[in-house]
Amino acid sequence: MTAFWTEPDYDDHEIVHVVRDRTRGLMAIIAVHSTHLGPGAGGTRFWHYPDPKDGLRDALRLSRGMSYKNAMAGLPLGGGKAVILADDNRTKTPELLAAFGDAVEGLGGKYVTAEDVGISEADMVAVSKRTAHVSGLPVSGNHAAGGDPGPFTAMGIYLGIKAAVRHKLGKGSVEGVHVAVQGVGSVGGGVAKLLAKDGAKLTLADIDAKRAAALAKELGGSSVDADGILSTPCDVLSPNALGAILNEDSIANLDTRIVAGGANNQLARAHHGQTLFDRGILFAPDYVINAGGIMSVATEYLARRDGKETGVEAVHDRIATIPERLEQIWEASDSTNTSPDIVADRMAQELIGRG
Ligand code: NAD
Repeated sequence: MTAFWTEPDYDDHEIVHVVRDRTRGLMAIIAVHSTHLGPGAGGTRFWHYPDPKDGLRDALRLSRGMSYKNAMAGLPLGGGKAVILADDNRTKTPELLAAFGDAVEGLGGKYVTAEDVGISEADMVAVSKRTAHVSGLPVSGNHAAGGDPGPFTAMGIYLGIKAAVRHKLGKGSVEGVHVAVQGVGSVGGGVAKLLAKDGAKLTLADIDAKRAAALAKELGGSSVDADGILSTPCDVLSPNALGAILNEDSIANLDTRIVAGGANNQLARAHHGQTLFDRGILFAPDYVINAGGIMSVATEYLARRDGKETGVEAVHDRIATIPERLEQIWEASDSTNTSPDIVADRMAQELIGRG
């Protein structure tokens, strides 16, 4: 592996910790981008990278993303991310998870981990036997903060869409507003249900066409082919499936005034934020509007760390700040003629002391 500081994604990360435990079969990279606001928090990805360099890049890129996301969510947390470099067979043993827990513990609380791709709640329980710096653990009782982040993410996006409709269309309600939803899984399905209650007009799409059709029937909307959703004429396009969907071609074919959804990294390239802006389409930066889930996970972690009982209301209080943050971004975007994604990044950099 070449020196990590020559990597384009290296951004003065505070810690890049490489763990090699041959006995217990662990090879991992833990990257902490910033602890300016608190411990670097972000999930652990368990993935087989044919080239370990790609694992390093993921750890660097995703930990910086977590710094920005946690800062804009108003959380007392910095940004971090761990990548476990799985072998060809993706062998995951209790010993490997124990070794990973020891590595997290060894950082003395500068990194707090949670689930990401390839890591389950049960894996996090195993890791938590070796370190207290873990979030995303099972919660007891219906009213405790934590648990499945999907519904919290959906709530933040719903509130964000309402704010966008107010800002761009001057409407105080989404009644009759046409929202096209791409992906009706945990997040997109939740967003659609919340919007339906307010009388929004819905067009849904999913690569699982039956899933989209069934939800459309339940909510009184319609469904279209997954290929057609990005060019569906609508007021709001809400991407809740994959990242990198906004590129030169797809943006040229958009027939919407607003893009506001939960999918991570919707802009295929950084300059596509400007392309949207030039077309007069209001964009809700994804890492700001989809922060409801991390707000829930973080509230759970902070409550356990501080030995407090924290209810779900505390999560809803945090989620209520998402529309305010978006409004701040859009106002600055309007007054400086700068695209909202750039404004958001600059605000995040200020918050982590790197303005
Ligand atoms: P999910 O797996 O529950 O749902 C995703 C849905 O998208 C599935 O129904 C899938 O069939 C559909 N889909 C996949 N490709 C598609 C395509 N090309 N066109 C249309 N539909 C497609 O996942 P989720 O938890 O709802 O997450 C959705 C997005 O939100 C992801 O990008 C995820 O990273 C992001 N996100 C999720 C959370 C959370 O709390 N779950 C938090 C932040 C961001």
